[in-house]
Amino acid sequence: MELRLTANKKSRELLQKNIDYYGKWNQLSKAVSELNELIDAISIDLDTWEEEDTKNTIDEIADVIIMCQQLIMIFGIEDDVKERIKFKLERQRQRIKNKNRSD
Ligand SMILES: [Mg+2]
Repeated sequence: MELRLTANKKSRELLQKNIDYYGKWNQLSKAVSELNELIDAISIDLDTWEEEDTKNTIDEIADVIIMCQQLIMIFGIEDDVKERIKFKLERQRQRIKNKNRSD
């Protein structure tokens, strides 16, 4: 499975300009803000489940993905994150497989 966690070259250049302009610490702080905004959006979705209005959640997911891409660039951890995603997905696949066997 091939995972791409960071944007294409042109977008990566823009993200790097963002990091250079605002600074790494500020971008980490911004990531916290964006994650909180996504938590708020999901909480509203949970409270208004029947309405299926996910417009705000889509916006906040986009913000969080952009910030996560910057975090990966700031820490230089793309391969490490990919490895952990693969590990966690495989672990979950095994859990489901084992559960289905025991049902
Ligand atoms: Mg936001």
